[in-house]
Amino acid sequence: MLSSILKTSSSTIQRSTPFVRRAFSTQFPALQRVAGVETVKNYINGKFTESKTDKWIELYNPASQDLIGYVPETTPEELREATKTAAAAAKEWKKTTVLARQRVMMDLQYLIRQKQDAIAENIVQEQGKTFADAKGDVFRGLQVVEQACALTSLLMGEKLTVAKDMETYMYREPLGVVAGICPFNFPAMIPLWMFPLAIAAGNSIIMKPSERDPGALMMLAKLAAEAGVPDGVLNVVHGSVDCVNYICDEPEIKAISFVGSDKAGEHIYTRGNANGKRVQANLGAKNHAVLLPDANKQAALNAIAGAAFGAAGQRCMALSTLVCVGETKDWMPELAQRARELKVGYGMDPDTDVGPLITVQSKKRVERLIQSGVDEGADLILDGRGVVVKGFEKGNFVGPSLLTNVKTNMECYREEIFGPVLVCLNVDTLDEAIELINKNPYGNGTAVFTNSGPSARKFEHEIDVGQVGINVPIPVPVPPFSFTGSRGSILGDMNFYGKSGLNFYTKPKTVTSLWKESDSEHTRAAVSMPTMH
Ligand code: NAD
Repeated sequence: MLSSILKTSSSTIQRSTPFVRRAFSTQFPALQRVAGVETVKNYINGKFTESKTDKWIELYNPASQDLIGYVPETTPEELREATKTAAAAAKEWKKTTVLARQRVMMDLQYLIRQKQDAIAENIVQEQGKTFADAKGDVFRGLQVVEQACALTSLLMGEKLTVAKDMETYMYREPLGVVAGICPFNFPAMIPLWMFPLAIAAGNSIIMKPSERDPGALMMLAKLAAEAGVPDGVLNVVHGSVDCVNYICDEPEIKAISFVGSDKAGEHIYTRGNANGKRVQANLGAKNHAVLLPDANKQAALNAIAGAAFGAAGQRCMALSTLVCVGETKDWMPELAQRARELKVGYGMDPDTDVGPLITVQSKKRVERLIQSGVDEGADLILDGRGVVVKGFEKGNFVGPSLLTNVKTNMECYREEIFGPVLVCLNVDTLDEAIELINKNPYGNGTAVFTNSGPSARKFEHEIDVGQVGINVPIPVPVPPFSFTGSRGSILGDMNFYGKSGLNFYTKPKTVTSLWKESDSEHTRAAVSMPTMH
Protein backbone atom coordinates (compact mmCIF):
# COMPACT_ATOMS: atom_id res chain seq x y z
CA MET A 1 0.00 0.00 0.00
CA LEU A 2 1.13 3.49 -0.68
CA SER A 3 0.75 5.71 2.32
CA SER A 4 -2.25 7.98 2.56
CA ILE A 5 -0.23 11.00 1.48
CA LEU A 6 0.06 9.45 -1.94
CA LYS A 7 -3.62 8.92 -2.48
CA THR A 8 -5.62 10.61 -5.16
CA SER A 9 -9.34 10.86 -5.63
CA SER A 10 -9.32 9.45 -9.13
CA SER A 11 -12.88 9.43 -10.33
CA THR A 12 -12.61 8.29 -13.91
CA ILE A 13 -13.72 4.70 -14.37
CA GLN A 14 -11.90 3.28 -17.34
CA ARG A 15 -10.82 -0.14 -18.45
CA SER A 16 -7.42 -1.43 -17.54
CA THR A 17 -5.08 -1.79 -20.49
CA PRO A 18 -2.86 -4.85 -20.42
CA PHE A 19 0.46 -3.11 -20.08
CA VAL A 20 3.85 -4.45 -19.21
CA ARG A 21 6.00 -1.86 -17.52
CA ARG A 22 8.66 -0.63 -19.88
CA ALA A 23 11.31 1.03 -17.79
CA PHE A 24 13.61 1.53 -20.75
CA SER A 25 11.11 3.19 -23.02
CA THR A 26 10.77 6.92 -23.38
CA GLN A 27 7.29 6.48 -24.83
CA PHE A 28 4.49 5.30 -22.62
CA PRO A 29 1.26 4.23 -24.26
CA ALA A 30 -1.68 6.46 -23.51
CA LEU A 31 -2.71 4.61 -20.39
CA GLN A 32 -6.29 4.50 -19.28
CA ARG A 33 -6.15 4.45 -15.55
CA VAL A 34 -8.29 2.25 -13.37
CA ALA A 35 -10.48 4.12 -10.93
CA GLY A 36 -9.50 4.02 -7.30
CA VAL A 37 -5.91 3.02 -7.97
CA GLU A 38 -3.61 5.42 -6.19
CA THR A 39 -1.25 7.74 -8.02
CA VAL A 40 2.18 8.62 -6.72
CA LYS A 41 2.63 12.36 -6.26
CA ASN A 42 5.42 14.72 -7.14
CA TYR A 43 6.95 16.32 -4.06
CA ILE A 44 7.97 19.82 -5.03
CA ASN A 45 8.46 22.85 -2.78
CA GLY A 46 7.10 21.00 0.23
CA LYS A 47 3.85 19.93 -1.45
CA PHE A 48 2.66 16.52 -2.60
CA THR A 49 0.85 17.27 -5.83
CA GLU A 50 -0.70 15.24 -8.62
CA SER A 51 1.37 15.38 -11.81
CA LYS A 52 -0.30 16.90 -14.85
CA THR A 53 1.32 14.26 -17.03
CA ASP A 54 -0.54 12.00 -19.40
CA LYS A 55 2.21 9.38 -19.15
CA TRP A 56 1.75 6.93 -16.29
CA ILE A 57 3.70 3.83 -15.37
CA GLU A 58 1.81 0.97 -13.74
CA LEU A 59 3.00 -0.23 -10.37
CA TYR A 60 2.42 -3.88 -9.48
CA ASN A 61 2.81 -5.91 -6.34
CA PRO A 62 5.38 -8.48 -7.52
CA ALA A 63 3.96 -11.22 -5.30
CA SER A 64 0.37 -10.94 -6.49
CA GLN A 65 0.57 -8.94 -9.73
CA ASP A 66 -2.14 -6.68 -8.31
CA LEU A 67 -2.08 -3.19 -9.77
CA ILE A 68 -1.27 -1.01 -6.77
CA GLY A 69 -0.46 2.37 -8.21
CA TYR A 70 0.49 4.66 -11.03
CA VAL A 71 3.79 6.49 -11.21
CA PRO A 72 3.87 9.68 -13.27
CA GLU A 73 6.45 10.60 -15.84
CA THR A 74 6.92 14.03 -14.25
CA THR A 75 6.45 16.66 -16.97
CA PRO A 76 9.24 18.97 -18.17
CA GLU A 77 7.38 21.94 -16.63
CA GLU A 78 7.22 20.17 -13.28
CA LEU A 79 10.90 19.25 -13.48
CA ARG A 80 11.76 22.88 -14.14
CA GLU A 81 9.59 23.94 -11.22
CA ALA A 82 11.39 21.43 -8.97
CA THR A 83 14.74 22.81 -10.10
CA LYS A 84 13.71 26.42 -9.61
CA THR A 85 12.39 25.77 -6.16
CA ALA A 86 15.48 23.69 -5.24
CA ALA A 87 17.82 26.45 -6.42
CA ALA A 88 16.01 29.10 -4.40
CA ALA A 89 15.91 26.84 -1.32
CA ALA A 90 19.61 25.99 -1.63
CA LYS A 91 20.57 29.65 -1.33
CA GLU A 92 18.80 29.98 2.03
CA TRP A 93 19.58 26.50 3.36
CA LYS A 94 23.29 27.08 2.81
CA LYS A 95 23.15 29.98 5.25
CA THR A 96 21.93 27.81 8.13
CA THR A 97 24.53 26.61 10.61
CA VAL A 98 25.95 23.12 10.64
CA LEU A 99 24.52 22.75 14.14
CA ALA A 100 21.02 23.59 12.93
CA ARG A 101 21.24 21.09 10.08
CA GLN A 102 22.60 18.46 12.42
CA ARG A 103 19.55 18.88 14.66
CA VAL A 104 17.26 18.26 11.67
CA MET A 105 19.16 15.02 11.00
CA MET A 106 18.70 13.96 14.62
CA ASP A 107 14.96 14.46 14.33
CA LEU A 108 14.90 12.65 10.99
CA GLN A 109 16.69 9.60 12.39
CA TYR A 110 14.19 9.50 15.27
CA LEU A 111 11.19 9.71 12.91
CA ILE A 112 12.53 7.05 10.55
CA ARG A 113 13.09 4.74 13.51
CA GLN A 114 9.46 5.30 14.56
CA LYS A 115 8.16 4.52 11.07
CA GLN A 116 10.56 1.71 10.23
CA ASP A 117 7.84 -0.96 10.15
CA ALA A 118 5.45 1.10 8.01
CA ILE A 119 8.18 1.84 5.47
CA ALA A 120 9.21 -1.83 5.48
CA GLU A 121 5.64 -2.90 4.81
CA ASN A 122 5.47 -0.58 1.84
CA ILE A 123 8.70 -2.12 0.55
CA VAL A 124 7.20 -5.62 0.81
CA GLN A 125 4.19 -4.54 -1.24
CA GLU A 126 6.10 -2.73 -3.95
CA GLN A 127 9.46 -4.53 -4.06
CA GLY A 128 8.57 -7.99 -2.75
CA LYS A 129 11.36 -8.68 -0.25
CA THR A 130 10.49 -10.20 3.13
CA PHE A 131 9.34 -7.92 5.95
CA ALA A 132 12.44 -8.74 8.04
CA ASP A 133 14.73 -7.97 5.11
CA ALA A 134 12.78 -4.78 4.31
CA LYS A 135 13.36 -3.61 7.89
CA GLY A 136 17.06 -4.17 7.24
CA ASP A 137 16.72 -2.07 4.07
CA VAL A 138 15.45 0.83 6.19
CA PHE A 139 17.97 0.19 8.96
CA ARG A 140 21.04 0.23 6.73
CA GLY A 141 19.86 3.58 5.35
CA LEU A 142 19.17 4.87 8.84
CA GLN A 143 22.82 4.31 9.66
CA VAL A 144 23.72 6.98 7.12
CA VAL A 145 21.30 9.40 8.80
CA GLU A 146 23.02 8.57 12.07
CA GLN A 147 26.30 9.43 10.41
CA ALA A 148 24.81 12.76 9.34
CA CYS A 149 24.12 13.41 13.03
CA ALA A 150 27.90 13.62 13.50
CA LEU A 151 28.03 16.51 11.06
CA THR A 152 29.78 18.94 13.37
CA SER A 153 32.87 16.73 13.54
CA LEU A 154 32.67 15.57 9.94
CA LEU A 155 32.52 19.08 8.49
CA MET A 156 35.21 20.51 10.74
CA GLY A 157 37.61 22.62 8.66
CA GLU A 158 41.39 23.08 8.79
CA LYS A 159 43.52 26.09 9.68
CA LEU A 160 47.24 26.80 9.55
CA THR A 161 49.36 29.84 10.20
CA VAL A 162 51.35 30.06 6.95
CA ALA A 163 53.34 33.25 7.47
CA LYS A 164 53.64 35.92 10.06
CA ASP A 165 50.15 37.22 10.72
CA MET A 166 48.85 35.16 7.79
CA GLU A 167 46.48 32.20 8.07
CA THR A 168 45.00 29.81 5.58
CA TYR A 169 41.83 28.00 6.48
CA MET A 170 39.79 25.49 4.54
CA TYR A 171 36.16 24.59 4.90
CA ARG A 172 33.74 22.72 2.69
CA GLU A 173 30.79 24.40 1.03
CA PRO A 174 27.68 22.82 -0.47
CA LEU A 175 27.44 22.50 -4.26
CA GLY A 176 23.93 23.96 -4.59
CA VAL A 177 21.34 21.73 -6.26
CA VAL A 178 22.24 18.04 -6.58
CA ALA A 179 20.23 15.01 -7.73
CA GLY A 180 19.84 11.34 -6.83
CA ILE A 181 18.69 8.57 -9.18
CA CYS A 182 17.81 5.27 -7.49
CA PRO A 183 17.41 1.58 -8.38
CA PHE A 184 14.53 -0.66 -7.37
CA ASN A 185 16.32 -3.11 -5.13
CA PHE A 186 16.78 -0.99 -1.99
CA PRO A 187 13.88 1.50 -2.04
CA ALA A 188 14.81 2.98 1.37
CA MET A 189 18.53 2.36 1.86
CA ILE A 190 19.78 3.85 -1.38
CA PRO A 191 17.74 7.08 -1.22
CA LEU A 192 19.07 7.32 2.34
CA TRP A 193 22.64 6.99 1.03
CA MET A 194 21.91 10.15 -0.90
CA PHE A 195 19.57 12.81 0.41
CA PRO A 196 20.47 12.97 4.15
CA LEU A 197 24.17 13.69 3.56
CA ALA A 198 23.41 16.01 0.64
CA ILE A 199 20.98 18.03 2.76
CA ALA A 200 23.11 17.93 5.90
CA ALA A 201 25.97 19.37 3.85
CA GLY A 202 23.76 22.32 2.93
CA ASN A 203 22.55 21.39 -0.56
CA SER A 204 19.07 20.99 -1.88
CA ILE A 205 18.34 17.79 -3.77
CA ILE A 206 16.03 16.44 -6.46
CA MET A 207 15.45 12.72 -5.96
CA LYS A 208 14.16 10.29 -8.54
CA PRO A 209 13.20 6.93 -7.05
CA SER A 210 12.89 3.81 -9.14
CA GLU A 211 9.64 3.91 -11.06
CA ARG A 212 9.06 0.35 -9.83
CA ASP A 213 8.91 1.14 -6.10
CA PRO A 214 8.78 4.86 -5.24
CA GLY A 215 6.65 4.50 -2.07
CA ALA A 216 9.45 4.25 0.51
CA LEU A 217 11.08 7.48 -0.65
CA MET A 218 7.72 9.26 -0.62
CA MET A 219 7.29 8.24 3.02
CA LEU A 220 10.83 9.36 3.81
CA ALA A 221 10.17 12.74 2.16
CA LYS A 222 7.18 13.24 4.43
CA LEU A 223 9.32 12.41 7.47
CA ALA A 224 12.03 14.80 6.28
CA ALA A 225 9.45 17.61 6.16
CA GLU A 226 8.31 16.70 9.69
CA ALA A 227 11.93 16.76 10.84
CA GLY A 228 12.29 20.34 9.65
CA VAL A 229 13.78 20.06 6.17
CA PRO A 230 12.48 23.30 4.62
CA ASP A 231 10.26 23.39 1.54
CA GLY A 232 12.23 23.00 -1.67
CA VAL A 233 15.33 21.51 -0.03
CA LEU A 234 14.15 17.96 -0.78
CA ASN A 235 12.10 17.35 -3.93
CA VAL A 236 10.94 14.07 -5.46
CA VAL A 237 10.17 13.65 -9.15
CA HIS A 238 9.35 10.51 -11.11
CA GLY A 239 9.69 8.64 -14.34
CA SER A 240 12.47 6.98 -16.23
CA VAL A 241 14.63 7.96 -19.20
CA ASP A 242 13.16 11.42 -19.94
CA CYS A 243 13.35 12.46 -16.31
CA VAL A 244 16.91 11.12 -16.01
CA ASN A 245 18.01 12.95 -19.15
CA TYR A 246 16.56 16.18 -17.80
CA ILE A 247 18.66 15.71 -14.64
CA CYS A 248 21.78 15.05 -16.74
CA ASP A 249 21.25 18.17 -18.85
CA GLU A 250 19.89 20.78 -16.43
CA PRO A 251 22.73 23.27 -15.74
CA GLU A 252 21.42 24.19 -12.30
CA ILE A 253 22.05 20.59 -11.09
CA LYS A 254 25.72 20.38 -10.10
CA ALA A 255 26.12 16.72 -9.16
CA ILE A 256 24.36 13.39 -9.66
CA SER A 257 24.39 10.35 -7.41
CA PHE A 258 23.35 7.24 -9.31
CA VAL A 259 22.94 3.60 -8.28
CA GLY A 260 21.69 1.01 -10.74
CA SER A 261 22.58 -1.04 -13.77
CA ASP A 262 25.65 -0.68 -15.99
CA LYS A 263 23.64 0.49 -18.96
CA ALA A 264 21.87 3.35 -17.22
CA GLY A 265 24.95 4.23 -15.15
CA GLU A 266 27.26 4.51 -18.14
CA HIS A 267 24.72 6.70 -19.89
CA ILE A 268 24.24 8.99 -16.87
CA TYR A 269 27.94 9.19 -16.08
CA THR A 270 28.85 10.11 -19.66
CA ARG A 271 26.02 12.57 -20.20
CA GLY A 272 26.34 14.15 -16.76
CA ASN A 273 30.11 14.55 -17.13
CA ALA A 274 29.75 16.00 -20.62
CA ASN A 275 27.54 18.64 -19.03
CA GLY A 276 30.22 19.45 -16.44
CA LYS A 277 28.59 17.68 -13.51
CA ARG A 278 30.20 15.68 -10.76
CA VAL A 279 28.79 12.13 -11.00
CA GLN A 280 29.14 9.14 -8.67
CA ALA A 281 27.72 5.95 -10.17
CA ASN A 282 27.52 2.55 -8.51
CA LEU A 283 26.83 -0.16 -11.07
CA GLY A 284 26.31 -3.92 -11.41
CA ALA A 285 28.27 -6.75 -9.89
CA LYS A 286 29.24 -10.39 -9.90
CA ASN A 287 30.35 -11.16 -6.37
CA HIS A 288 32.51 -14.24 -5.86
CA ALA A 289 33.09 -16.21 -2.67
CA VAL A 290 36.01 -18.59 -2.32
CA LEU A 291 35.39 -21.73 -0.31
CA LEU A 292 38.59 -23.29 1.06
CA PRO A 293 38.70 -26.87 2.38
CA ASP A 294 39.76 -25.66 5.84
CA ALA A 295 36.62 -23.52 6.23
CA ASN A 296 34.08 -24.16 8.98
CA LYS A 297 31.80 -26.11 6.66
CA GLN A 298 28.47 -25.60 8.42
CA ALA A 299 28.91 -21.88 9.03
CA ALA A 300 30.24 -21.28 5.52
CA LEU A 301 27.42 -23.15 3.76
CA ASN A 302 24.78 -21.30 5.78
CA ALA A 303 26.42 -17.95 5.08
CA ILE A 304 26.68 -18.72 1.36
CA ALA A 305 23.06 -19.85 1.07
CA GLY A 306 21.82 -16.76 2.92
CA ALA A 307 23.89 -14.36 0.82
CA ALA A 308 23.09 -16.02 -2.50
CA PHE A 309 19.34 -16.41 -2.09
CA GLY A 310 18.36 -13.69 0.40
CA ALA A 311 16.33 -10.86 -1.18
CA ALA A 312 15.83 -13.33 -4.07
CA GLY A 313 19.38 -12.51 -5.16
CA GLN A 314 18.36 -8.94 -5.99
CA ARG A 315 21.19 -7.29 -4.08
CA CYS A 316 24.15 -5.68 -5.76
CA MET A 317 26.21 -7.46 -3.10
CA ALA A 318 24.39 -10.78 -3.46
CA LEU A 319 26.85 -13.61 -3.44
CA SER A 320 26.15 -14.89 -6.92
CA THR A 321 29.29 -16.90 -7.69
CA LEU A 322 31.05 -19.56 -5.65
CA VAL A 323 34.59 -20.67 -6.37
CA CYS A 324 35.11 -24.10 -4.83
CA VAL A 325 38.74 -24.88 -4.08
CA GLY A 326 39.70 -28.56 -4.20
CA GLU A 327 37.41 -30.97 -2.39
CA THR A 328 34.84 -28.31 -1.45
CA LYS A 329 33.09 -28.97 -4.76
CA ASP A 330 31.83 -32.15 -3.08
CA TRP A 331 29.99 -29.99 -0.52
CA MET A 332 27.58 -28.69 -3.18
CA PRO A 333 24.81 -31.28 -2.66
CA GLU A 334 24.76 -30.22 1.00
CA LEU A 335 24.56 -26.57 -0.04
CA ALA A 336 21.70 -27.45 -2.38
CA GLN A 337 19.91 -29.14 0.51
CA ARG A 338 20.16 -25.99 2.65
CA ALA A 339 18.91 -23.89 -0.25
CA ARG A 340 16.02 -26.30 -0.84
CA GLU A 341 14.88 -25.75 2.73
CA LEU A 342 14.42 -21.99 2.16
CA LYS A 343 10.77 -21.08 1.85
CA VAL A 344 9.67 -19.14 -1.21
CA GLY A 345 6.64 -16.94 -0.65
CA TYR A 346 4.95 -13.65 0.08
CA GLY A 347 7.11 -11.19 1.99
CA MET A 348 4.63 -10.58 4.81
CA ASP A 349 4.45 -14.29 5.61
CA PRO A 350 6.88 -14.56 8.56
CA ASP A 351 8.11 -17.96 7.36
CA THR A 352 9.16 -16.67 3.94
CA ASP A 353 12.87 -16.62 3.14
CA VAL A 354 12.77 -15.79 -0.57
CA GLY A 355 10.28 -13.34 -2.08
CA PRO A 356 9.40 -12.70 -5.71
CA LEU A 357 11.45 -11.02 -8.42
CA ILE A 358 10.54 -7.46 -9.25
CA THR A 359 8.86 -7.99 -12.64
CA VAL A 360 7.55 -10.64 -14.98
CA GLN A 361 10.44 -9.80 -17.32
CA SER A 362 13.00 -10.28 -14.55
CA LYS A 363 11.57 -13.70 -13.83
CA LYS A 364 11.72 -14.68 -17.50
CA ARG A 365 15.27 -13.39 -17.78
CA VAL A 366 16.46 -15.30 -14.72
CA GLU A 367 14.79 -18.49 -15.94
CA ARG A 368 16.41 -18.05 -19.34
CA LEU A 369 19.86 -17.61 -17.78
CA ILE A 370 19.38 -20.80 -15.73
CA GLN A 371 18.53 -22.65 -18.94
CA SER A 372 21.54 -21.14 -20.71
CA GLY A 373 23.74 -22.71 -18.02
CA VAL A 374 22.21 -26.11 -18.64
CA ASP A 375 22.52 -25.70 -22.40
CA GLU A 376 26.18 -24.76 -22.09
CA GLY A 377 27.02 -27.84 -20.00
CA ALA A 378 26.66 -26.82 -16.34
CA ASP A 379 24.84 -29.12 -13.87
CA LEU A 380 21.61 -27.76 -12.46
CA ILE A 381 21.54 -29.51 -9.09
CA LEU A 382 18.73 -27.33 -7.76
CA ASP A 383 16.09 -25.91 -10.10
CA GLY A 384 13.88 -23.15 -8.69
CA ARG A 385 11.90 -22.62 -11.86
CA GLY A 386 8.22 -23.38 -11.85
CA VAL A 387 7.72 -22.79 -8.13
CA VAL A 388 4.12 -21.92 -7.29
CA VAL A 389 3.17 -20.10 -4.11
CA LYS A 390 -0.31 -20.89 -2.83
CA GLY A 391 -2.50 -17.79 -2.86
CA PHE A 392 0.08 -15.95 -5.00
CA GLU A 393 -0.02 -18.03 -8.14
CA LYS A 394 0.66 -15.06 -10.42
CA GLY A 395 3.75 -13.87 -8.48
CA ASN A 396 7.19 -13.53 -10.07
CA PHE A 397 8.67 -16.34 -8.00
CA VAL A 398 11.82 -18.28 -8.76
CA GLY A 399 13.17 -20.58 -6.06
CA PRO A 400 16.84 -20.96 -5.11
CA SER A 401 18.77 -22.51 -7.99
CA LEU A 402 22.26 -23.96 -8.05
CA LEU A 403 24.40 -24.48 -11.13
CA THR A 404 27.64 -26.41 -10.60
CA ASN A 405 30.61 -27.13 -12.87
CA VAL A 406 30.16 -23.68 -14.42
CA LYS A 407 32.92 -22.34 -16.68
CA THR A 408 33.93 -18.70 -17.10
CA ASN A 409 32.87 -18.58 -20.75
CA MET A 410 29.24 -19.48 -19.97
CA GLU A 411 26.57 -16.79 -20.15
CA CYS A 412 25.35 -17.58 -16.63
CA TYR A 413 28.83 -16.62 -15.39
CA ARG A 414 29.36 -13.59 -17.59
CA GLU A 415 25.98 -11.94 -16.87
CA GLU A 416 24.78 -10.42 -13.61
CA ILE A 417 21.76 -12.69 -13.10
CA PHE A 418 20.14 -10.66 -10.29
CA GLY A 419 18.01 -13.56 -9.12
CA PRO A 420 18.23 -16.44 -6.62
CA VAL A 421 20.81 -18.34 -8.65
CA LEU A 422 24.26 -19.39 -7.45
CA VAL A 423 26.80 -20.43 -10.08
CA CYS A 424 29.65 -22.60 -8.82
CA LEU A 425 33.06 -23.00 -10.45
CA ASN A 426 35.86 -25.38 -9.49
CA VAL A 427 39.59 -24.63 -9.09
CA ASP A 428 42.46 -26.48 -7.42
CA THR A 429 44.19 -23.70 -5.49
CA LEU A 430 43.63 -20.35 -3.80
CA ASP A 431 45.97 -18.77 -6.37
CA GLU A 432 43.71 -19.95 -9.19
CA ALA A 433 40.64 -18.62 -7.35
CA ILE A 434 42.26 -15.20 -6.94
CA GLU A 435 43.29 -15.12 -10.59
CA LEU A 436 39.77 -16.03 -11.71
CA ILE A 437 38.16 -13.30 -9.60
CA ASN A 438 40.68 -10.66 -10.66
CA LYS A 439 39.91 -11.43 -14.30
CA ASN A 440 36.21 -10.71 -13.80
CA PRO A 441 35.40 -7.13 -14.84
CA TYR A 442 33.37 -6.35 -11.71
CA GLY A 443 34.83 -5.40 -8.34
CA ASN A 444 31.94 -4.83 -5.96
CA GLY A 445 32.40 -7.46 -3.26
CA THR A 446 34.08 -10.77 -2.56
CA ALA A 447 34.54 -13.16 0.35
CA VAL A 448 36.75 -16.00 1.46
CA PHE A 449 35.72 -18.77 3.83
CA THR A 450 38.68 -20.24 5.67
CA ASN A 451 40.13 -21.00 9.10
CA SER A 452 43.61 -20.10 7.93
CA GLY A 453 44.90 -16.64 8.85
CA PRO A 454 47.67 -16.79 6.22
CA SER A 455 45.20 -17.75 3.46
CA ALA A 456 42.87 -14.95 4.51
CA ARG A 457 45.73 -12.47 4.55
CA LYS A 458 46.94 -13.57 1.11
CA PHE A 459 43.41 -13.27 -0.27
CA GLU A 460 42.95 -9.81 1.23
CA HIS A 461 46.18 -8.52 -0.26
CA GLU A 462 46.04 -10.10 -3.71
CA ILE A 463 42.36 -9.74 -4.54
CA ASP A 464 41.46 -6.72 -6.69
CA VAL A 465 37.97 -6.10 -5.34
CA GLY A 466 36.90 -3.07 -3.33
CA GLN A 467 34.98 -4.80 -0.51
CA VAL A 468 36.43 -7.97 0.98
CA GLY A 469 34.81 -10.31 3.49
CA ILE A 470 36.74 -12.82 5.57
CA ASN A 471 34.17 -15.35 6.72
CA VAL A 472 31.66 -12.54 6.07
CA PRO A 473 29.53 -13.17 2.97
CA ILE A 474 28.25 -9.62 2.29
CA PRO A 475 30.98 -7.24 3.40
CA VAL A 476 29.14 -3.93 3.06
CA PRO A 477 30.84 -1.49 5.45
CA VAL A 478 28.74 0.63 7.77
CA PRO A 479 29.30 4.39 8.01
CA PRO A 480 31.71 6.01 8.86
CA PHE A 481 33.38 3.81 6.22
CA SER A 482 32.19 4.20 2.64
CA PHE A 483 30.71 1.71 0.16
CA THR A 484 33.89 0.93 -1.78
CA GLY A 485 33.01 -1.20 -4.80
CA SER A 486 35.72 -0.97 -7.45
CA ARG A 487 36.64 -1.60 -11.11
CA GLY A 488 33.58 -2.32 -13.30
CA SER A 489 31.17 -1.78 -10.40
CA ILE A 490 31.75 1.95 -10.14
CA LEU A 491 32.21 5.01 -12.30
CA GLY A 492 33.71 8.08 -10.69
CA ASP A 493 36.00 7.92 -7.70
CA MET A 494 33.93 9.32 -4.87
CA ASN A 495 32.16 6.66 -2.86
CA PHE A 496 28.76 6.72 -1.27
CA TYR A 497 28.42 7.67 2.42
CA GLY A 498 31.27 7.93 4.90
CA LYS A 499 33.74 10.80 4.54
CA SER A 500 33.84 10.33 0.79
CA GLY A 501 30.03 10.69 0.62
CA LEU A 502 30.20 14.02 2.36
CA ASN A 503 33.10 15.14 0.16
CA PHE A 504 31.02 14.31 -2.91
CA TYR A 505 28.32 16.77 -1.85
CA THR A 506 30.74 19.56 -0.94
CA LYS A 507 33.63 21.50 -2.42
CA PRO A 508 36.60 22.85 -0.49
CA LYS A 509 37.21 26.56 -0.15
CA THR A 510 40.48 27.96 1.16
CA VAL A 511 40.82 31.45 2.53
CA THR A 512 44.16 33.09 3.18
CA SER A 513 43.96 36.15 5.37
CA LEU A 514 46.45 38.71 6.47
CA TRP A 515 45.85 40.89 9.50
CA LYS A 516 49.20 42.51 10.29
CA GLU A 517 49.71 43.61 13.79
CA SER A 518 52.07 46.27 12.41
CA ASP A 519 49.91 47.48 9.53
CA SER A 520 50.32 51.06 10.50
CA GLU A 521 54.08 50.76 9.97
CA HIS A 522 53.79 49.94 6.23
CA THR A 523 55.60 52.46 4.12
CA ARG A 524 56.42 50.63 0.88
CA ALA A 525 54.73 48.11 -1.49
CA ALA A 526 56.21 44.55 -1.53
CA VAL A 527 56.68 43.30 -5.13
CA SER A 528 58.62 40.01 -4.79
CA MET A 529 57.11 36.61 -4.03
CA PRO A 530 57.90 35.59 -0.45
CA THR A 531 60.98 33.39 -0.02
CA MET A 532 60.94 32.90 3.73
CA HIS A 533 58.23 32.53 6.31
P1 NAD B 1 18.26 0.39 -13.55
O1 NAD B 1 19.54 0.87 -14.11
O2 NAD B 1 17.30 -0.28 -14.45
O3 NAD B 1 17.47 1.63 -12.89
C1 NAD B 1 18.14 2.53 -12.02
C2 NAD B 1 17.62 3.94 -12.31
O4 NAD B 1 18.02 4.34 -13.62
C3 NAD B 1 16.11 4.02 -12.25
O5 NAD B 1 15.76 5.16 -11.54
C4 NAD B 1 15.69 4.09 -13.71
O6 NAD B 1 14.56 4.88 -13.91
C5 NAD B 1 16.88 4.71 -14.40
N1 NAD B 1 17.11 4.16 -15.75
C6 NAD B 1 16.95 2.88 -16.14
N2 NAD B 1 17.31 2.74 -17.42
C7 NAD B 1 17.70 3.95 -17.85
C8 NAD B 1 18.20 4.44 -19.10
N3 NAD B 1 18.32 3.66 -20.15
N4 NAD B 1 18.52 5.75 -19.19
C9 NAD B 1 18.39 6.55 -18.12
N5 NAD B 1 17.91 6.13 -16.92
C10 NAD B 1 17.58 4.86 -16.78
O7 NAD B 1 18.64 -0.54 -12.31
P2 NAD B 1 17.65 -1.42 -11.44
O8 NAD B 1 17.21 -2.58 -12.24
O9 NAD B 1 16.63 -0.56 -10.80
O10 NAD B 1 18.64 -1.91 -10.28
C11 NAD B 1 19.39 -3.09 -10.34
C12 NAD B 1 20.81 -2.80 -10.72
O11 NAD B 1 21.39 -1.88 -9.80
C13 NAD B 1 21.70 -4.05 -10.66
O12 NAD B 1 22.57 -4.05 -11.76
C14 NAD B 1 22.47 -3.86 -9.36
O13 NAD B 1 23.71 -4.53 -9.30
C15 NAD B 1 22.64 -2.38 -9.34
N6 NAD B 1 22.88 -1.91 -7.98
C16 NAD B 1 24.15 -1.53 -7.68
C17 NAD B 1 24.45 -1.13 -6.38
C18 NAD B 1 25.85 -0.73 -6.02
O14 NAD B 1 26.03 -0.07 -4.99
N7 NAD B 1 26.85 -1.10 -6.81
C19 NAD B 1 23.44 -1.10 -5.41
C20 NAD B 1 22.15 -1.48 -5.77
C21 NAD B 1 21.88 -1.88 -7.07
